[in-house]
Amino acid sequence: MSKPKIATCWLDGCSGCHMSFLDMDEFLVEFAQKVDVVWGPTVDPKEYPKDVDVCIIEGAVSSDEDLHKLEMIRSRTKILVSLGDCAVTGNVPGMRNALKVPQLFERAYVENAAVNKRAPNWGVPKHLPTARPLHEHVKIDAWIPGCPPPAKAIHFAVTELLAGRIPDSTEYTRFGK
Ligand code: SF4
Repeated sequence: MSKPKIATCWLDGCSGCHMSFLDMDEFLVEFAQKVDVVWGPTVDPKEYPKDVDVCIIEGAVSSDEDLHKLEMIRSRTKILVSLGDCAVTGNVPGMRNALKVPQLFERAYVENAAVNKRAPNWGVPKHLPTARPLHEHVKIDAWIPGCPPPAKAIHFAVTELLAGRIPDSTEYTRFGK
């Protein structure tokens, strides 16, 4: 029997949620034996496969690149999981939502810059007007809140998913924990 295909994705987040995922320590060995990790920042494949069972996504949707990636993943994945408060609520990326994008770039690259005070005009994806949680753009099947969610909450959720159940992580984590 083939193993479940699992992916992870990093949108507009700090990677802390992926670090918490790696904090599952010895369970990662067991996890690696039970699943095929087919895409994500911890593995090499560049192309997202068409028939992924579960994708666990960190970060908010802040740019057209994020949105395109999220929609592509949704169309190729059975179960999507929002990992961490940025994915679940917008959280830290959402702090920029009071500013319009040109003001945001002025604040970040000019007012708060010590040197080379200039907003980039290439190499930066087009920002959406606001950073939003994943479920405002696509259907999400499960949530693991927390900033970052503790490894035991991720462990619980992954164990439930591998058993064919949609996890309710509220016993192990909550917003801002
Ligand atoms: S939820 Fe917290 S740890 Fe996770 S990406 Fe956002 S800021 Fe980082």
